[in-house]
Amino acid sequence: MRPLVMIPGPIEIDEAVVRAMGQPPKSHLDPELIETFGRALDRLKEVFFAPNGQPFVVAGSGTLAMEMAVANLIEPRDRAVVVDIGYFGARMATILERHGAHVTRVRAEPGKVPSIAEVGAALDHAATKLLAITHVDTSTAARTDVAKLAKLGNERGALVVVDGVCSIGAEELRQEEWGIDVALTASQKAIGAPPGLAILVASERAMEVWGGRKAPVGSFYADFAEWLPIMTAYAARQPKYFATPPVNLIEALDASLALLLAEGMEARFAEHESIARVFRAAWNALELRPLPARDEESANTLSALYYPPGIGPTLVGAVRAEGVVIAGGLHPDLGPKYFRVGHMGLCRPSDVLTTVAAIERALARLGYAPKPMGIAVAAAEAALALENGSP
Ligand SMILES: *Cc1c(COP(=O)(O)O)cnc(C)c1O
Repeated sequence: MRPLVMIPGPIEIDEAVVRAMGQPPKSHLDPELIETFGRALDRLKEVFFAPNGQPFVVAGSGTLAMEMAVANLIEPRDRAVVVDIGYFGARMATILERHGAHVTRVRAEPGKVPSIAEVGAALDHAATKLLAITHVDTSTAARTDVAKLAKLGNERGALVVVDGVCSIGAEELRQEEWGIDVALTASQKAIGAPPGLAILVASERAMEVWGGRKAPVGSFYADFAEWLPIMTAYAARQPKYFATPPVNLIEALDASLALLLAEGMEARFAEHESIARVFRAAWNALELRPLPARDEESANTLSALYYPPGIGPTLVGAVRAEGVVIAGGLHPDLGPKYFRVGHMGLCRPSDVLTTVAAIERALARLGYAPKPMGIAVAAAEAALALENGSP
């Protein structure tokens, strides 16, 4: 039987998205494909809360979206500040340095986030071209306060780039209202499509800064100059070629965005908060300690939990044997000490219970059973009932 995939991407996807994906590829000049591509671009602006934003959808992964943001906005010797809360913050710093930026990393212990004052001090240290923020770091499940940090960046005149790969589509993010210049993600995370698309939305200010560059963009494939005419054409329901779009993925993306918007973004945000509370109740019952030190700095899109005493990375395989796929640790300092459970997309109450039960059973099989069997499932059931307002 197919296992339930509960990792922080790729995630379980809706049947409608699978169907959109599983057709013979259309021509990228096909009128139906043109309509689908244009509609997906329109829908992205709604999902990002960026009615005046410029979306880019390019074959690649989230890392390409990060590099596109940097390659187009940074010129050699520009100064950048990175709010570095884990594995992906470190990656952002590396990409910035590769493109010639002088980078100051404002770091935090795994599971923590830097204070607003620390980020403010780094911005005040010298003129800063770009402030990069990871919304949710998938290696720790810590979540930054993007609204506050972006405001800080705006006040200092820095462009604000948000890595929302583990958040956009599930955690509240309002690009224009919050003053975010580039918000970026990938198709296989909370967006709910298969992997393969780098997705970013640039503000008018970001496009102006890019337009005023002196140095050429240091990447041919990532250059906005190549992609802007393509995105503008499809948005106007005209075809245009630069590099072959992954047509099936574009159709899958459009289908997944349609589902997101049909439910409504506010409902999505609330649903993920609710799911995270239910999972937290189950982890508490199992006495599993989360990496994030504080609930208000904890992601709603995934859980990161220390292995309990006597348990190690063999747990991942044992949970797989119970029919659920979870992930090991990713943070370079803590990798073998913890595991992760993704809950950023489709996640029905029954999926929550299946996941909790599989983890509870696997822990017991490996010799960790501090409580009567079933206590975590019972805690999840009780929390679900509370969330739904029923007994
Ligand atoms: C997954 C992830 C990335 C990288 O995305 P890929 O599609 O694996 O390249 C970057 N940042 C965050 C926060 C992520 O969760």
